[in-house]
Amino acid sequence: MTRSRKTPERTCIGCSRTADKRGFVRIVRTTDGHVEIDPTGKANGRGAYVCARVECFDAAAARKRFDPALRVRLRTDDIDRLRRELEELLALTQTSPQGR
Ligand SMILES: [Zn+2]
Repeated sequence: MTRSRKTPERTCIGCSRTADKRGFVRIVRTTDGHVEIDPTGKANGRGAYVCARVECFDAAAARKRFDPALRVRLRTDDIDRLRRELEELLALTQTSPQGR
């Protein structure tokens, strides 16, 4: 039973699934207080993770999991904006896995 430390696990704040971070999308509260989708996973700030599925984003939003995870108070229009950004990101990764 050896566990590699090179594959850090992340927990989805929507469905609480734990897995390798590659299956997740990071949402970050940047140092200047904006909350954004972080496609690189490397932006500075406090991050939270959801599975790369809109369903988990919606679940997290419905349960208000973003606020404690990011220590922020998201407004409804912030959530709408993030959801659109997530949908765009997922559409990109599904149609062109190599990126363009
Ligand atoms: Zn999930």
